[in-house]
Amino acid sequence: MYIYQTDLQKEEAKQPTELDFYQAADRRHLLRTDEETYKLRRLIAGVAGEKIVADYLNQYGKSHWLGIPNLWMNYFGPFECDFLLITRYKIYVFEIKNYKGEFVYKDGFVKINNKQKTFNPIHQTRRNYRNVQEIISEINPNIQVEGATIFTGINNAVFMESEVSDIKITPRSYLKWYIDQIIKEEQENRRLITNQDAILEKLTSYQIENSFLPEAISKEKMATAKRGIQCAKCHGFHIKVNRFNIECRCGYKEDREIATLRAIYDYAVLNHDKRLTINHLLHFIDHQVSRTYLLNLLNQYFSAVKKSSESYYTVTDFSKLKSMLNL
Ligand SMILES: [Zn+2]
Repeated sequence: MYIYQTDLQKEEAKQPTELDFYQAADRRHLLRTDEETYKLRRLIAGVAGEKIVADYLNQYGKSHWLGIPNLWMNYFGPFECDFLLITRYKIYVFEIKNYKGEFVYKDGFVKINNKQKTFNPIHQTRRNYRNVQEIISEINPNIQVEGATIFTGINNAVFMESEVSDIKITPRSYLKWYIDQIIKEEQENRRLITNQDAILEKLTSYQIENSFLPEAISKEKMATAKRGIQCAKCHGFHIKVNRFNIECRCGYKEDREIATLRAIYDYAVLNHDKRLTINHLLHFIDHQVSRTYLLNLLNQYFSAVKKSSESYYTVTDFSKLKSMLNL
């Protein structure tokens, strides 16, 4: 399967995601309510679920298939498709849910572990695939669109106690089987129905920016963040800075540059809406490295904006920095 990224998605990938923000906040001991830690867990589970589906499609799907993850569109209101799969025969709209425990759908209501929920992934899947169907029918009403709710949790039991016939319900253990059906359908319907370029053009004409952007942190909250360079292994802050490495109380040693960059990254993600200045960074790093050392790093890895008052730095591409730091 080929993963397609729209121009807008390529731009957005340079900015921190909500998950990046919550993970940095967690490293800096800023998640203090149950609600906040629950949100982090939910974001991690969501991304993990989407990765499972992409991995299955890569392993069991066809190489000519095209996948678009997390596409935001506006069709009489904003909506997000967790994953769009375009085969030669059909367009599939996947809503991906990574739950644990018992999921029950009955009479239009959803219960997870016996608690009634206000959200409804079945209705969400239906709405999303119908929207895509409407959009695509502007090209050709004969192009088929199928919606499916995919439950990726390995310890998630799914009970459909009311019939749902317009969308597919696919628990994890049926996922490979479902992909096999998609292959079969494509083979049995050999005439090419989908023109991928036309479809991509149509879909992107309805695309909007991702509505789930990280929040902005207040100065007051930032003042309570855990400062200093953090150990990559035990996540503690009891470290000694040497000339070339940092040494943690746990025994772990790490290259000084990487460890310092990781602290800068945390600060930059949390303050993505603010200017990155040397003084703020020195304070955040608790003066564990010198101003000269920090300036060198900033000039090497960040873009400088020179101002007569105080120069500041910007991150050109967060995702690049993140993968360099193995975060
Ligand atoms: Zn350590």
